[in-house]
Amino acid sequence: MWGRCVIGSLVDRVAIVTGGSRGIGRAIALELARRGARVVVNFRSSAEAASQVVDEVKAGGGEAIAVQADVSDTQQAAALVKRALDTFGCIDILINNAGTTRDQLLPLMREQDWDDVMRTNLKSVYNCCKAAVRPMMRRRYGRIVNISSVSGIAGQGGQTNYAASKAGVIGFTKSLAKELGPRNITSNVVAPGYIPTDLTADLPDTLRHKVIEATPLRRMGTPEEVAEAVAFLVSDEAAFITGAVLTVDGGLVMQG
Ligand code: NAP
Repeated sequence: MWGRCVIGSLVDRVAIVTGGSRGIGRAIALELARRGARVVVNFRSSAEAASQVVDEVKAGGGEAIAVQADVSDTQQAAALVKRALDTFGCIDILINNAGTTRDQLLPLMREQDWDDVMRTNLKSVYNCCKAAVRPMMRRRYGRIVNISSVSGIAGQGGQTNYAASKAGVIGFTKSLAKELGPRNITSNVVAPGYIPTDLTADLPDTLRHKVIEATPLRRMGTPEEVAEAVAFLVSDEAAFITGAVLTVDGGLVMQG
């Protein structure tokens, strides 16, 4: 039943999930709702998919709304946060998940491909955090999880733009953890490995097999496995964890 589990319960928490309409964000929205959170499902263009997520949450007895906003745009991100506050009265949890790729080798990469990826993956994190942290600071409570990638840790050929944006997310998150720790706001990163979603649908089979071979657990992950890691980091059980980078990658990239 929605919201009935005790460990990891998020009953009465209010969460924003950017890019909650599809893929990993969808799984995160559903998992937070399953644990009892009221969820704002953000999307940019997939209105139908976002409303299906909301319907699924409601069918399980939970509360959710879908809110359209391009989070790479500062004003739209601020409007998203305002809508969450107006609807639910507070924000406890912010998951910056919205992301995109424009893979290309650097000599062929257009400036537009660089700018689009940096805006969608990194500026969006600035935009949403900037808008959400004041209300969190006032309540002396907050849980922020930013979705990076193993590419942001280890690099990946053809992804200079994507890897730079995702490495930026890690630096941003650690800095924010230092700023906001005294206000009881945690800020952590989840860095997935390869997860089958629309984002990775075009990955050639040869590359897919190479990735699986290089992964100690010898498979790709699932959006639900990423969502479980996110749900842990926003739970009371993770209250003393901040500035951490949690890889969910079957051991593909080992740090430390
Ligand atoms: P996906 O299936 O392509 O879904 C992307 C989501 O982001 C969609 O909900 C999309 O909304 C939303 N979005 C994109 N740009 C947006 C914007 N400007 N404003 C608001 N929403 C926007 O991607 P995914 O694989 O689930 O990836 C989710 C996150 O995980 C991304 O940050 C990605 O970089 C990261 N990640 C993924 C993998 C992987 O293997 N899949 C690995 C490492 C990291 P619409 O539906 O409206 O377009």
